[in-house]
Amino acid sequence: MAAIDCAAYSTEADRQYFDRELDAFVPPRVFDAHAHLSATPIMTEVPFATGYAEYRQLVQCLLPGRQVEALFISYTADREATAAANAWTQAQLAAAAQCRGLFYVKPTDDPEWVRQEVRRLGLHGLKCYHLLASVNPTWQADLPDYLPEPLVQVANEEGWVITLHMVKSRAVADPANIHWIRTYCQKYPHMKLILAHSARGFQPLHNLEGLPQLTGLDNLYFDTSANCEPMAHAVVLRLMGPQKVMFGTDFPISHARGRSIGVGDSFIWVYGQTPVWGEKHQRVDPPLVGMEALRALKWACWSERLADAQVEDLFWNNAARLFALD
Ligand SMILES: [Zn+2]
Repeated sequence: MAAIDCAAYSTEADRQYFDRELDAFVPPRVFDAHAHLSATPIMTEVPFATGYAEYRQLVQCLLPGRQVEALFISYTADREATAAANAWTQAQLAAAAQCRGLFYVKPTDDPEWVRQEVRRLGLHGLKCYHLLASVNPTWQADLPDYLPEPLVQVANEEGWVITLHMVKSRAVADPANIHWIRTYCQKYPHMKLILAHSARGFQPLHNLEGLPQLTGLDNLYFDTSANCEPMAHAVVLRLMGPQKVMFGTDFPISHARGRSIGVGDSFIWVYGQTPVWGEKHQRVDPPLVGMEALRALKWACWSERLADAQVEDLFWNNAARLFALD
């Protein structure tokens, strides 16, 4: 592959942002617990297939000079192509001894077939997604609609992780989500459940309301990916403890511009092309999603008074324990 020029992905303003606010915060060694590789382009900002080689280069545009390893989450927009997506992830991992990979699972997949496939591909768990549920609309799906219990049972028997991007309007404040997360975690203690995007608390109120009802579950973890609200991370850190939190980028979303914003009882996303960047007094450069999310995490660590060693835990040691890294 051709060398990737970071100037195409991060501007001078981005580099100044990193130097000013993030360089002193991000440790030298980083485990990215939520990154997508794909054999087909996922978004216009990164208009090509992203394998491990592309990831390694592009992540340096966001985290310059860091040693970065990752949990790669198989992805495809084509629901008929999950097998190819999983094979792609496996092939990418061949050159990445300290990286891990998740199997993109459909709710209709036979659990015993999934067990054999994940073993055969050398992957470390499952990624479920509401878009594969058969209910309508899928963003109001109950957890078993896209993560049926027999799959959780296999994950428990195999000691796998499952990354969950929860849905429903009120995310982790929704009683059905609370019920199913608690039920699955208690009934299947060897399965490790990772609530993506800091429990999808793009509206931090939902974390404040819901997470007190999910304390005391040893096998419940969080990744911080793509969530640009400091309070969302702060609530997770305070209620669940810094040992349960892992940094993540949601690559390639990290390389888009804009941010999530909690508003009312919900949230919105503004993107680089959303017409909000021309303020009365000045023009604002849309920042990278990855940098806004990192700064939100930094502010949460500051307000929760985390020690440097705890920050290193959430950038590396917590994932190293979970994934048995060297
Ligand atoms: Zn993601």
